[in-house]
Amino acid sequence: MTASTAKSLEGVRQEAMTQLIPPSLLGAAYDAKKQVKLGAQTTQPLADDGALLGQFGPADTLSVVLAREGFANLAGAVSAALAKLVDPKLIRAGEKYQVDRDDEGNPRAFEYMPTPVLHYSVTQKPDGSWQAKKQEKALEIKTVEAFGGVDSSLYESVSKAGEGGALVSLMVDLFAWDINFYTDTHPGDHWKVVVEKQYLGGQFYRYGRLLAAEYGGKVGTFRGFYWNPTGEHGRGRYYDEKGQALAKTMLKTPLRFVRISSKFDRQRFHPILHVVKAHLGVDYAAPQGTPVWASMGGKVLQAEMMRGSGNTIVIAHGNGLQTRYYHLCRFAKNLRAGKQVQQKEVIGYVGMTGLATGPHLHFSVVKNGQFIDPAKVSVMREPGPSNRAAFLAAIRPRLATLKALPAVMAKN
Ligand SMILES: [Zn+2]
Repeated sequence: MTASTAKSLEGVRQEAMTQLIPPSLLGAAYDAKKQVKLGAQTTQPLADDGALLGQFGPADTLSVVLAREGFANLAGAVSAALAKLVDPKLIRAGEKYQVDRDDEGNPRAFEYMPTPVLHYSVTQKPDGSWQAKKQEKALEIKTVEAFGGVDSSLYESVSKAGEGGALVSLMVDLFAWDINFYTDTHPGDHWKVVVEKQYLGGQFYRYGRLLAAEYGGKVGTFRGFYWNPTGEHGRGRYYDEKGQALAKTMLKTPLRFVRISSKFDRQRFHPILHVVKAHLGVDYAAPQGTPVWASMGGKVLQAEMMRGSGNTIVIAHGNGLQTRYYHLCRFAKNLRAGKQVQQKEVIGYVGMTGLATGPHLHFSVVKNGQFIDPAKVSVMREPGPSNRAAFLAAIRPRLATLKALPAVMAKN
């Protein structure tokens, strides 16, 4: 096996995870195969070609499964052939496999199916040796439009429109620099999207690219358009209809799933010290262990335990700008003073070290030695598309589509 094949397999898993697709959804197309009773012996589902589908259990290794399926003295050769493409240690509980058998019930071939799209089949060649082949199923991609009005939450509205939670994540990520979806959403807001949906064998599999999106309401109207002139994987960016990048050089909220528990306030009564003490940052209440991102790219000045602020990270970003992160339960692996970090790189995890009444992130911004309100930091946008004219021409039809979709207002 090579490092690159193991990596690509892990990549597939991570891609599924970053899209926040629940396993039940991932398996939807997969498990839809009819549960066929085979005589009276078994209720295992039947695969297309009549082979029995199996599943790796929590304690299963590849050799355990091969032994159980009757490969006996062939198990070593089958396992070695598969290991040329996949690291058997990366096989996880819940992943599927199937065994093809001859008329006597002896195993003839083994197929490992880590995802509904990715299959590895191990078969015997005429000379008796075993060979593994990787197969990737073709996904059908449909571009669809969806829209809705917000009553209580964006999640509920998207569900009502018949779409999944993964679409909410795509929208939250797209607008993360402009909208704080935990504080800026209000009843009466609306959203519209043009998004790719990927289908496998006619069943919804997952979302592809979010091509265009609009969010409007009290907070203003924001639009974003996907643009990737080179077509290179991972190089797509979002811009508004004027060609301004949506990404800013600083993230307003350096973690996900939060609520603001205390704002920037120069005259706050301190909950532990019981004195009026300026609160020179924003507190984000979040579960212990929630990953914290670097708000901008920069250099770590400090990553150490401090008396009041607990595990503390300070990052310098140039132009006299610093961000500070307090009360972390721990630092990211290998994080130390002097390290260069990227925007949105995980630097630590929410905790309650130092003076804290509960797990939260205290986040503050220092400009030229002065604490400033993170909500009021004016930050630069990333550069626009290299060919603005081509971008504007390309998004014109998508902009027209967004504008034509109704801005549904939720009933009060
Ligand atoms: Zn605080």
